[in-house]
Amino acid sequence: MFKSPFINIHSHRKPSLASEICVRNAYLHKPSKILTRYYFSAGLHPWHVAKQDLKTIAHQLEDITMHPFCMAIGEIGLDHYYPNMPAQIDAFTLQVAFAQAKKLPIIIHEVKSMQGLQKILKNFSEPIILHGYTGHIETWEQLNFNNKTYVSFGKQALHGSKKLIDTIQQIPSNRFFIETDQLNIPISHLYQHISDIRAEPMADLQTQLFQNFNEILPATCSPIALE
Ligand SMILES: [Zn+2]
Repeated sequence: MFKSPFINIHSHRKPSLASEICVRNAYLHKPSKILTRYYFSAGLHPWHVAKQDLKTIAHQLEDITMHPFCMAIGEIGLDHYYPNMPAQIDAFTLQVAFAQAKKLPIIIHEVKSMQGLQKILKNFSEPIILHGYTGHIETWEQLNFNNKTYVSFGKQALHGSKKLIDTIQQIPSNRFFIETDQLNIPISHLYQHISDIRAEPMADLQTQLFQNFNEILPATCSPIALE
């Protein structure tokens, strides 16, 4: 019987399991780090907006999204704890418009900026992935205006607050992903943990998240072989 792979929707490393499909993070301002054997997302992180002007960002996006394994724009977003909010808003707005034009999903980094985010995303019609999600289910609902908004659970789920555990239990199975982000542990460890929280067999979770992944995979993306 075909066993679904482990989808790791946001990671800063190579797959560590033979049955893992990773979406690796590529920083737009470090193009030499862009990867060619794995799916990846590319974008200008809100922490790095001071380093680029809008024209350069647009050119870099144009180049990098030609790659057949570029499956999303991200991490992009807004971070309240970082300076330069006007520049963050400009860079985010530009990248969202670009993703819309190319019909690509976006992977979002958000810290205490939900209202600003909502304003910029209100007409966005491609999939939205809120990575490293720790919020209430209601916050996800508010952002799910296009019925294509997903959350992704990472390391915070390992020692989750009551709020996060509730969200993990309540989120519909077709609206979430799992990620290692910067963490150096096997993705299967997080799957096991989340399947325990949801009281749902891990194999079912794998099948569902693989299905979710295929839902959001852009038509322009080439299929990738497992390691
Ligand atoms: Zn990350």
